[in-house]
Amino acid sequence: MNARHFTAIFFISILFLLIATSVHPAQAQATVTQEELIEFENHLNEADQVLLQTLESKNPRDYRYDYLLDKIAARFNAAGSLVYPNYEEKEVAYMVFAGAIGYNACAAHKTIVIDSLYIDAMKRYAEGIAYYGKAKTDYTRKLANAVGNKDIEIKEGKINIDYENEENPFSLPLAGTLSAEEQQNADRIFEGMIAWTLSHETAHAFKEHKKRVLLTFYNIYMKYRNQGYSEEQLTSQISKYIKSTHSRKQEYEADYYGVSLYKKAGYDKKCITYAYYFSQVLFEAFGVNEFSEDASHPASVAREKRINKIWNQI
Ligand SMILES: [Zn+2]
Repeated sequence: MNARHFTAIFFISILFLLIATSVHPAQAQATVTQEELIEFENHLNEADQVLLQTLESKNPRDYRYDYLLDKIAARFNAAGSLVYPNYEEKEVAYMVFAGAIGYNACAAHKTIVIDSLYIDAMKRYAEGIAYYGKAKTDYTRKLANAVGNKDIEIKEGKINIDYENEENPFSLPLAGTLSAEEQQNADRIFEGMIAWTLSHETAHAFKEHKKRVLLTFYNIYMKYRNQGYSEEQLTSQISKYIKSTHSRKQEYEADYYGVSLYKKAGYDKKCITYAYYFSQVLFEAFGVNEFSEDASHPASVAREKRINKIWNQI
């Protein structure tokens, strides 16, 4: 296990029983054997691998932020058992892919995938907050406009990401030249915002919210593989998986465990507020669903209120 894996404790068999019986309703009365549970787990792990391989075949892995993912995972590892006390061990790995999913973060079975545009945008935004001393600035709006345009271009397959320019591959606007103190503050805010995203997605993975979707995806993949799948078919399945939404109940649960993990890892609540403000500005600028709460994600303001409430309860 390397540091980028977040390990905590996972109560596997009850969930397996519940989900295995609901996936196969005809066998709902039958007892699920240990072997079947292991096979089920193996299918899910293989589905993760297929998902990653397909993403990687389209866009390169982005290693620039591994230092940050390692740091966040280490802090989560130290806090994880406080958040998931009655669970057996489960590992979640964090990875960044360049431009593959377009301003998004997504949880598979044991892998959390973040998009390069998303993480780069948060970095610039954090620098802007540190430079101007506040989040609500013209710079934030300018950045949101640039990010929104890049996102659309990526989704329409129009963009050529400048991979040669490792510092700023999407040519996002810079806030200015930061002093050492401002840079330190920017780094802290950036880490906090990414930690918030990861804590929420980690909660989805730990609660296995996409297990049924992932299994469906795996079964379709196997069918394609046996029949000689086309790359387009597989890519369209991957994109369906990434775009598939959680129920509102699952989002509430992910927020609850996400906030718990985030707070116990010692992160600043303000970074959650900053992250919400940016998605709000993106939404206002473009009015595109993906930037805001979809049908399953409650509206930003209500969600932030609820997060505050969870924060004070923990
Ligand atoms: Zn979610």
